[in-house]
Amino acid sequence: MVTSSPANVRSAVAAPRLVVDLNRCQSYGQCVFAAPTVFRFHGTESLEYDYAPDPGRWAEVRRAAAACPVQAISLGVVPGSDSAVPEVPGE
Ligand code: SF4
Repeated sequence: MVTSSPANVRSAVAAPRLVVDLNRCQSYGQCVFAAPTVFRFHGTESLEYDYAPDPGRWAEVRRAAAACPVQAISLGVVPGSDSAVPEVPGE
C-alpha cells in the first residue's frame, strides 16, 4: 500500500526549485548574507542550499540570486509541473 504524507504531497506539488551552478560558484558568500536560512557554507568553501525553500523565503532567494556576482543561482520549475516561482508582492 502506498501512502502520501503531507511532506510527500508537498514535494510532488510544490515544484519551484532553486539551482546553484557549483561549477560557476566562486564561494563569494553573497547568497549566504542575503538568504542565510537557505544558503550556508559547510566548511570554508562548500556551499549548501535548500533547493526547495519554503514559499515565504522566495523574496530572500531572489535577493540572493541578484546578489550573486557570477549569476550562479537559477530559479525555475520542474519540467512537467504547472507551478511557477512564487510571485513576491512589491517586487
Ligand atoms: S553568491 Fe554566488 S558565487 Fe557566492 S557563494 Fe553564493 S552562489 Fe556562490
